[in-house]
Amino acid sequence: MTQYLFVPPAVLSLPIRGRAERFPIHRIFCVGRNYHAHAVEMGRPVDKSMEQPFYFTKSPQTLVESGATVAYPPRTSNYHYEMELVIAVGRPGFRVSEANAHALVYGYAAGLDMTRRDLQLVARDKGRPWDTGKDIEQGSVCSEIVPMPGVVIERGAIALEVNAQTKQSSNVDKLIWNIRELIADLSTYYHLQPGDLIYTGTPEGVGAVLPGDQITGRVEGVAEIALCVGAPE
Ligand code: MN
Repeated sequence: MTQYLFVPPAVLSLPIRGRAERFPIHRIFCVGRNYHAHAVEMGRPVDKSMEQPFYFTKSPQTLVESGATVAYPPRTSNYHYEMELVIAVGRPGFRVSEANAHALVYGYAAGLDMTRRDLQLVARDKGRPWDTGKDIEQGSVCSEIVPMPGVVIERGAIALEVNAQTKQSSNVDKLIWNIRELIADLSTYYHLQPGDLIYTGTPEGVGAVLPGDQITGRVEGVAEIALCVGAPE
């Protein structure tokens, strides 16, 4: 039996609706600028005929379950919410066709891709990596995983409120690259594995939160999510 110098990190996991087993997390992929109105508000419109989707990753250790209270993170004064539909991958796939992409889907969740917008934009404009803007401790929030094996979601309202005031309201039928296209394209870069999460991008209306704010959100037909922003450490 392998012996370790210290106790290895725990396996990160999420509850699965209707099951006792939990969903172990392998990797967290995020899609950038995947709703036209959000790309415009970020000052970077997308021309699908000329561009490909792009991705960044967040460490699985950044995962936090819906319902948590998280400390307002250090080194930012512009901490943003991004409400997203999340794909939970349940089968391996590499260079998967769009026609076969559904076979990788175990289910879906509602997610928050929390972002240090100030650091992200400095990094973007200086051509630096986004890690400190995106890979934030307790910055990848996710609901329970809702099993929908083989289902491709094509529409459904997606919305977010801060302190019960609506901030984001759109529909996942407005994704620039849809579920089939994302799975097929991402699988040209990575051997997708069970336990991978794919945050599919946020609609318009992103904005800042402050300590004490209550975030609520939902993807119609999938799940709800909640997060309380606590005091800074
Ligand atoms: Mn995002």
